[in-house]
Amino acid sequence: VTVLLVQPLALDEVLAALASGARPVAGGTDLVVGARQGKRPLPDRLVAIHRVDDLRGIRPGAVALDLGALATHAEISVHPTVLARYTALADAAAIVGSHATRAHGTIGGNVMNASPAMETGGPLVCLCADAVLASTTGTRSVAVEELLTGPGTTAARDDELLIAVRLPVRPPSGTGSAYVRLEYRRQMEIAVVGVTAAVTVTDGVVSAARIAVTALAPTIRRVLAAEVALIGTRGDETAIAAASAAVQAAVTPISDVRASAAYRTEMAKVFTRRAVATALRRAAGEAVAVPASSSTMGAA
Ligand SMILES: Cc1cc2nc3c(=O)[nH]c(=O)nc-3n(C[C@H](O)[C@H](O)[C@H](O)COP(=O)(O)OP(=O)(O)OC[C@H]3O[C@@H](n4cnc5c(N)ncnc54)[C@H](O)[C@@H]3O)c2cc1C
Repeated sequence: VTVLLVQPLALDEVLAALASGARPVAGGTDLVVGARQGKRPLPDRLVAIHRVDDLRGIRPGAVALDLGALATHAEISVHPTVLARYTALADAAAIVGSHATRAHGTIGGNVMNASPAMETGGPLVCLCADAVLASTTGTRSVAVEELLTGPGTTAARDDELLIAVRLPVRPPSGTGSAYVRLEYRRQMEIAVVGVTAAVTVTDGVVSAARIAVTALAPTIRRVLAAEVALIGTRGDETAIAAASAAVQAAVTPISDVRASAAYRTEMAKVFTRRAVATALRRAAGEAVAVPASSSTMGAA
């Protein structure tokens, strides 16, 4: 099979290629590696987007932080604004694959690949991120929560390119977030169970909370019952236990070679406890090191 690859410098040329049926490739760590492993054949027409400068960079602004679609996990995991205000996203980006995966893998590729086990999805959903999609006919924003529609599927059309992920500005004080995942071996694994929590604490009371599960449903999902269990409480042990129980009751994991559904369900409770407790500690101003998966290892 011959694969036709174009590598334009201008965004317009990428969009024109997509409109005529080509598929985008960014870092290639999903698309190309997947094809080599025989998971999925390469599309016969590819447009490489890695030379388009407009898609690069992490841009803090007055109302939002824009992550260019080509921002790599390595760049995101050390960015000072991400570390300070969107800590769950740093937790996630810091544990994607290996050093090489993080250096080449992009946020755009991670989101658009839409794996139910993808690392950045839970943090982006809990931090209220939007996906900015462009095509030859215009640009629109879709909440990441609505973009992810199922395993490997998104609400984006084939002719749309994700150009940026936009995170609304969060105040530095009173907010905290964390993403933790269960892993057997560091580096080459995707999540078997992952939980994200983002909280706002006002005068000692949890005034807002978003909790999402990874690899525990056909796609990244918020668990509203767990959020409700936390909001209005002081984030004490009882409230955290109630949120964890709500997650355990809500998840619908699969059994596969990596873990059984029953084990994943039990671990969902444990990892919710860790994610929520860590988000609350960060909201209180405590510095819990990134990635939270390592720094909370062995925690109850
Ligand atoms: C060894 C290894 C370990 C890994 N470990 C993890 C892990 O721990 N956690 C995890 O979440 N992932 C992991 N991955 C998966 C992968 O590395 C990430 O999902 C990465 O972020 C994908 O980015 P990419 O730029 O390489 O995507 P690509 O492979 O270039 O693209 C992935 C998909 O997204 C589409 N796409 C890419 N960019 C855009 C865009 N801007 N707009 C529209 N569509 C687009 C492509 O057409 C393709 O369908 C691993 C992969 C490997 C090979």
